[in-house]
Formats: sequence, structure tokens, C-alpha cells
Amino acid sequence: MNKRGRSANDLILARKKIETMSDDKMILAYRAPTSMDAALLVQALEAVGITTVQSGGQASGGFGELPADSLQVDIWIAPDKAELARKTIEDIQRQDKAQPPEWACAKCGESNDGEFEICWSCQAPHDAA
Ligand SMILES: [Zn+2]
Repeated sequence: MNKRGRSANDLILARKKIETMSDDKMILAYRAPTSMDAALLVQALEAVGITTVQSGGQASGGFGELPADSLQVDIWIAPDKAELARKTIEDIQRQDKAQPPEWACAKCGESNDGEFEICWSCQAPHDAA
């Protein structure tokens, strides 16, 4: 009995899949400033079913000291996912800015956390100003 035949076939299939994924039709979805940003983004993209390929950053490796911008990570996706990816990235960037700034109550002058809708001190609504 030779069971190796089957696994060799599987390997060829897997290799073909990788070739398809990494062909030059992929488009650049985002250039992340650090590999940490890239990791977050990749996680979000994969959560909506987008396969990503990363280049640059630590993956392209090399030892020793690297200039700061070599830590940038390019995230590549299939062109048919471009629209979904764009929306996903926009959502993430919106969430990043989701912390609203502190505001000063127009009525009593107390400062309130951005997420408060009414003044904690006098209960005046934020948009009364
Ligand atoms: Zn107030």
C-alpha cells in the first residue's frame, strides 16, 4: 500500500493554489506603517473573507538594522475584493477616530468626556450649544 501518492497530489494542489493567490493580478489594498497595523488590518480583511498577501516589513526580512520605513507592510488582495476591502479599511479608520473629543458644556462650562451626550454636571445636552 502506498499512501504517499495521495499526499503528493495534495501538495501539488496546494502549490497551485498559492501560485494563483500570488499572481501579479493582485492589487495593493493598503500600505501599513508598521507590521502591527498590518496585522490588525489583515485580521479585519480576513474576517470578511478577503485573502491577503503581505510584503515588506519584517517578512522580507534581512538581519541587522533596517531603516524605519522598511517596516512598512504592503497588503495585497485580489482585485475583485477591492471594493469590500476599501470599505473594510474605511470602517477601521473610522473606528480609530471613534473616540470623540472632550467638550465643554455651553451652560455650565464643565468639561465632559466625548462619549457623554449630556453634561454630567447640569444635564444640558451636548448639542444645545
Ligand atoms: Zn453643564
